[in-house]
Amino acid sequence: MDLHFSAEDQQFREMARDWLRDNIPAGRRPHHGEEMRTFDTAWQKTQFDAGWAGISWPTEYGGLGLDLTRQLIWYEEYARAGAPDNHLCFVGLNHAGPTIVSHGDEHQKRKYLKPVLSGESIWCQGFSEPNSGSDLASLSTRAEIDGDELVITGSKIWTSHGHLSDMQELLVRTDPDAPKHKGISWVIFDMKVAGLELRPINIMTAPNLPHFVQCFYDEARIPLANVVGGLNNGWKIAMSTLGFERGTAQIKDQIRYAHLVEEMITRAKKRFGSENLHTDEIGSRLAQLRADMAAARAMTYMTVSRAKAGNPGAESSLMRAMVGQVQQKVRRLALDIIGPEALENPDEDDWVYFYLRTFSTTIAAGTSQIQRNIIGERVLGLPK
Ligand SMILES: Cc1cc2nc3c(=O)[nH]c(=O)nc-3n(C[C@H](O)[C@H](O)[C@H](O)COP(=O)(O)OP(=O)(O)OC[C@H]3O[C@@H](n4cnc5c(N)ncnc54)[C@H](O)[C@@H]3O)c2cc1C
Repeated sequence: MDLHFSAEDQQFREMARDWLRDNIPAGRRPHHGEEMRTFDTAWQKTQFDAGWAGISWPTEYGGLGLDLTRQLIWYEEYARAGAPDNHLCFVGLNHAGPTIVSHGDEHQKRKYLKPVLSGESIWCQGFSEPNSGSDLASLSTRAEIDGDELVITGSKIWTSHGHLSDMQELLVRTDPDAPKHKGISWVIFDMKVAGLELRPINIMTAPNLPHFVQCFYDEARIPLANVVGGLNNGWKIAMSTLGFERGTAQIKDQIRYAHLVEEMITRAKKRFGSENLHTDEIGSRLAQLRADMAAARAMTYMTVSRAKAGNPGAESSLMRAMVGQVQQKVRRLALDIIGPEALENPDEDDWVYFYLRTFSTTIAAGTSQIQRNIIGERVLGLPK
């Protein structure tokens, strides 16, 4: 591992800290619908206009062209400042964008990257299908070549924020006769084209406000030029996308949750008294979580250090598995520490909403079981 902070890094940290202190948007972030889109895109635009977006993205596509260490510093200061998480921009900023940076052609990079950084273009992910989740390579949404177009028919499910998105990173089967990993393509799909129908899926955190949609493609046409990384080469590109999604994309959450653990320690001392925490069950859970966070921080540094040498690949599953589990433990403990106040005083923070959301953190981006399979087989070299 080669990661240290130089004097220039320190200077960058101070500039980031000052800017965040003065520019964090006032008011609470809405969790749903157009209000959320307006909030998230405006906050992203503010960061872009001030020169803080795409810290490690190339300058020719709107980024700052800086080292991943600076990106890490930015996330650390972002969490420290309590800046709102503009989650709607997550796919574009953290895995669709980085995939295009790594594998897109010049035209794709020029057209699609800058609008992600400026908050003008929201991306969603069209990977999972009703019968292809963990076994993603079995996907059956097909795309047939017709002249210089692809004609897409099939369905994707669990598309987070699909109804609020402009673009989609989409996996389609372009060669049904090839072995299952070989006939897939990774394509850029415009959510406004004819032939796409979206059906909302309700969830328990907001029964009448969808987080997910199911997408139905009925001969939807996109240019063949929207294939990223070569026709039928999509499995390799998708592994790169998942490497970003499970690795570098988790860094921000890891840092946010480390801050939350410290906040919980302060609250627990106030509520139960410092002296009681030494013997109390809450105290030992807090101690365990602080230790978990130290391990997660070491893993973050490892991820950044490895990512500097290229996409972290299978090792990113270590990060995803750890962050997913830690989020569940921290949010459950938060409710136990705050007590009934968490239900009575929802205006202070959305404790219940976030607690309920963490049920999904060991499913999204691949379940914990799948992450463990990958760690066992591809990181540790254990037999299948
Ligand atoms: C909050 C959230 C957001 C999501 N957003 C998106 C999105 O934007 N776009 C998108 O494409 N998808 C999204 N997903 C879908 C997600 O990627 C899938 O739910 C996940 O990959 C699991 O697939 P599945 O639901 O089909 O479960 P299945 O694959 O049917 O798995 C069912 C159970 O079997 C277990 N299992 C399956 N295979 C194995 C195996 N080989 N070894 C051990 N255990 C196994 C699984 O761990 C799980 O417990 C999201 C999911 C959630 C919860």
